[in-house]
Amino acid sequence: MISLHTVAPHALALLAAPGLLALGCARAPLAPPGRPNVLLVTIDTLRADHLGCYGHPGSATLVLDGLASRGIRFGTAIAHVPLTAPSHASILTGRTPLGHGLRDNGGFALPDGARSLAEDFRRAGYRTAAFISGFPLDRRFGFDRGFQTYDDHLPRGNDPRRTPYVERTADRTTEAVLRWLEAAPSVAAPFFLWVHYYDPHAPYEPPAEYLARFPSSPYDGEIAFVDAQLGRLLRRLDELSSGTVVLVTADHGESLGEHGEETHGLFVYDATLRVPWIMAGPGLPSGRVAGVVARGIDVAPTLLDYAGLPARADVEGRSLRAAADGRDQGDAPAYVESLFPQLQYGWAPLHAWRTARFKLIDAPRPELYDLGADGGETRDRAREEPGRVDEMRGHLRAAMSTRTPSAVKEMDAETAERLGALGYLGGGGARATGAAPRDPKDGVRLVARLGRGMEAARTDPAVAIRELTAVLDEDPGMLVARRTRAVAYAAAGQHDAAIADLRRLEKDGRLSAEDAIVLGDNLRFSGRLKDAVAVLERTARENPKFAQPWLSLAEVKVKEGKNAEAAAAYERVLRLVPDHIEALRGLGDLALLEGQAEDAAARYGRVLEVDPADAGAMTKLGVVRMRAGRAEEATALFRKAVEREPANGEALLYLAGALASNGRPAEALPFFERALRAGPRSSMALNGLGLTRLAVGDRPGAAAAFRESLRLDPKQPDVARTLREMGGRR
Ligand SMILES: [Zn+2]
Repeated sequence: MISLHTVAPHALALLAAPGLLALGCARAPLAPPGRPNVLLVTIDTLRADHLGCYGHPGSATLVLDGLASRGIRFGTAIAHVPLTAPSHASILTGRTPLGHGLRDNGGFALPDGARSLAEDFRRAGYRTAAFISGFPLDRRFGFDRGFQTYDDHLPRGNDPRRTPYVERTADRTTEAVLRWLEAAPSVAAPFFLWVHYYDPHAPYEPPAEYLARFPSSPYDGEIAFVDAQLGRLLRRLDELSSGTVVLVTADHGESLGEHGEETHGLFVYDATLRVPWIMAGPGLPSGRVAGVVARGIDVAPTLLDYAGLPARADVEGRSLRAAADGRDQGDAPAYVESLFPQLQYGWAPLHAWRTARFKLIDAPRPELYDLGADGGETRDRAREEPGRVDEMRGHLRAAMSTRTPSAVKEMDAETAERLGALGYLGGGGARATGAAPRDPKDGVRLVARLGRGMEAARTDPAVAIRELTAVLDEDPGMLVARRTRAVAYAAAGQHDAAIADLRRLEKDGRLSAEDAIVLGDNLRFSGRLKDAVAVLERTARENPKFAQPWLSLAEVKVKEGKNAEAAAAYERVLRLVPDHIEALRGLGDLALLEGQAEDAAARYGRVLEVDPADAGAMTKLGVVRMRAGRAEEATALFRKAVEREPANGEALLYLAGALASNGRPAEALPFFERALRAGPRSSMALNGLGLTRLAVGDRPGAAAAFRESLRLDPKQPDVARTLREMGGRR
């Protein structure tokens, strides 16, 4: 049914279109007609106790601290899962994982029955937009529901294979948000905006300036960088908008070595579950610290409350407005879980029940902590207090058995089947057969070894293969070790070994869609193109919402020389993910290959509209301009690419080449040298360097470059002749 609410925003947008609106040039503020704008910021992997306002001594979180002092903060806020996707699902739906059904990163999508607060805002006439910085929240997992704009363009094109952690850094995400804010029509409905920052997630690699400020804790450097970027966003928002309710929280913390865990996901201790919760804006008091325990499921009802909208009955959380206002609001217990140890390692899952004072972890050997006296959860009291263990376990299991059936009804069939196969629909996670699963706390040593292997998979594959093989020798059920070893084998160029590991997963029925892509790529690299096509086409069929199989398929078709089929596969990607950067780039490269310069320029230009910082597209657009004889324009593009990515070998080489061929050899020289340091020492680059050195009169330098070039590729008669002539004249 069409209501005024759904029609109004379109009508307003139409009115605001250029030419239709005769209001002159003054930009009206983004004025909410009666309702406030709402900004939800989630900072991935952010421990509460690493912020100044939560008592961290050496922090540089001035923006978040300032927000807390002009608004309110909850002293204790708890995430329900120490994992990005399930925890964000709780934040957005107001339901625990038992209710929304998304139990792990990657393997699950948000079921249709689990509604997002973005849908509530949308129905109420809000404009909705989300800006995502990490792969686990890719639209394929269902988080785009209710958002008119869902910007999940990651710098390397939503491609988890190219780097171990694909992320968009906070400066780029902020720039994308600011572009959206500035483009807002001057007469506008209020907005609901969700901004997700990913920087504090491992690996901890803050920009140089922040690394220099936090040399011994780069994690804090990442946090300080996000804080500064959030400051940019909030300042501009203040200029544009008359009233925005801002809520900043996190999906989970980071263990940083506590309990033997380096990162997050395995355990359910507060190190990875205590997150910040800071709010400010119209209707909120200033400088208050609320004592009630806030939970992830309380975010959605609280935000809807401040916007004057009702929360739906199926929400498990509650609005914390009363507590924020300083009124009495009793604590509610939090259900907590991590199925990660089971789904990824084949160990026991963890479920926990957390009250304001105590936490029970329902592991094979249960643990009980008195959080009031022992916030670090270092002294297990389970043996001393069996009565409390039984009582809390009773609450936990009751929650698990009563909430599950209603959720299952609304879950889509695929998710229900997946959960059923894993034994979760009974509510207990019991295993039907086999030995008792390992208690995660008994396997933490293996996890450290696994972590070393995973970290080195792409950068130091020999180390990774050694560590992961040792892990698999001890626990062959750790599937993640096998999948990662396949990645390491691939990085080492041992494609047959990679294929063997992946075929083994396939035989055991545990080949995930992501594994299938890696398998397809290894088949492609080892020249078995028909097998690659078979695997990728099957994966595309079985995962109709996934763009990645089509992207890999396109690369196989390029290798087969079937350009039209490759282009068709890239177009499939674009239908699934409009403006997918790698698909646009692929189409641009194909057009360039076929000499369709304007088509290529249009594709690269589109990449740059989506991500103005994409140095690869700048470089390729430069190549198109160069070929059209527009040398100055090309040089400017190459220069910009090099500024953006000072170690981009391709951009450096093109810049050097453009300068050299335009009679500026002295200027070109340092760029040739940098290109050779940054990229492969190709004969083409060495010949360019040699000719340029010759042009500036450096004959010995030129000869050295030509000699190295000939060592790499002896079949270059022209180079050999030049070298001979130089020798003869000496
Ligand atoms: Zn996360």
